[in-house]
Amino acid sequence: MATIPPSRSPIKPLLALSLLWLAIGTQASAGSGDPWADLPAQVDTLLPGVIELRHAIHRHPELGNREFKTAERIARRLRELGFEVQTGVAHTGVVGVLKGGQPGPVVAIRAELDALPLTEQTGLAYASTLRAKDEGNDLRSRGKDVGVMHACGHDAHMAMAIGVAEVLAAHRDALPGTLKLIFQPAEEGPPLGEQGGAALMIKQGVLQAPAPEVIFGIHVTAGTAGTFTLSKARTTASADTFVARITGRQTHAAFPWTGIDPVPVAAQIILAWQTIPSRQSNLSVLPAPVISVGRLEGGDRHNIIPAEIRLEGSIRTISDEQREDVLKRMSNTAQSIAQASGATATVEYLPGGYRSGYNDTALAERMLPVLQQVSGTPVKIDNGTYGADDFAEYARQIPGLFMRMGVTPPALQDKPVWPTHSPGFQVDDPSLATGIKALSLMTLRYMRGEGQ
Ligand SMILES: [Zn+2]
Ligand SMILES: [Zn+2]
Repeated sequence: MATIPPSRSPIKPLLALSLLWLAIGTQASAGSGDPWADLPAQVDTLLPGVIELRHAIHRHPELGNREFKTAERIARRLRELGFEVQTGVAHTGVVGVLKGGQPGPVVAIRAELDALPLTEQTGLAYASTLRAKDEGNDLRSRGKDVGVMHACGHDAHMAMAIGVAEVLAAHRDALPGTLKLIFQPAEEGPPLGEQGGAALMIKQGVLQAPAPEVIFGIHVTAGTAGTFTLSKARTTASADTFVARITGRQTHAAFPWTGIDPVPVAAQIILAWQTIPSRQSNLSVLPAPVISVGRLEGGDRHNIIPAEIRLEGSIRTISDEQREDVLKRMSNTAQSIAQASGATATVEYLPGGYRSGYNDTALAERMLPVLQQVSGTPVKIDNGTYGADDFAEYARQIPGLFMRMGVTPPALQDKPVWPTHSPGFQVDDPSLATGIKALSLMTLRYMRGEGQ
């Protein structure tokens, strides 16, 4: 998932947390012999093992569709815990099913397996030093030897999902439903020319047999450790990568009229694209799309007008209609401006884009007290992010809830922020407990039919 600005909330009041816990509890717990009545204490007990697992995964990151060892490690642990395990889903995906001893619904939790092509600079004892060949669709780095790092926190997501597996499997007989853990490859995108990620998992039947009624996912982010941000409707944006080529005719810089200069044409196109969000989008209906040119390339020498300029960038939109509209407008704008100068322009949208994602509003309302309870601070409600995540694909099939949890280690709280996707991104280990408690309690709340 892409970078999200950190939230700034007050320090976690521990006293308030425990009081809230006593006040809410799990509704079925009071005096009923509920084996999870002291779930927070159970999670705290298993936390050291979960932290150890995260560090081991962090030290051995793997890129999308190549998460062989990570998948093996996850599958082994799930089998030890008594899960029915399926491997090789959507290349390297692992699906674990734990059928509880009591009747009830199927609840899914999703975690991602993949890391990013980035050289780690955290200096941590368990930092990654691994390298791999970049096979992604970034035109500059493709084919190169790159550092690999869990810079999006997927190591934390896996560790939390295993934590949930441990705490719920410990009293399997009492579990009123079925837990389905989905460990998904290639969230950051598959290698060029390959399929992958959530869409491929769905295509291969991950939401069937057994079919989950709902799906939960937590994404860690820079921000106060253990605090949650939740949107009740739209959560993530679509993300599309484009490559535009503006072609003129090469000539001497002293005699531009003897050729066609693509440089001013590219400049006009870049500026005109910004009028799509600011002048052409109906801002009374939807927030604006985002169009960013991240790379601009062309030219051979200071006194030669080049034949071609290439632009690469990212487009973020928040509905399917807006996405289609913006892509069309970008192509039309580029072509028309180029034509006016006798140049040509093409805009190519690379495969593997992300669709926008939405939370189920009723599910969000129903689970909000759990998040409040485990974090002990008010949950920040917002209208989603321009970051993208293919969790959206599941939530387009069944009701889903995707939350963000702050994990900046307190010692780094007042230092310059290293967001996700940066080489200095770090995860506060004790916050994993908060995530495990949230996911376990939401699962139990749904299975028990509480808060409907
Ligand atoms: Zn990411
Ligand atoms: Zn991510």
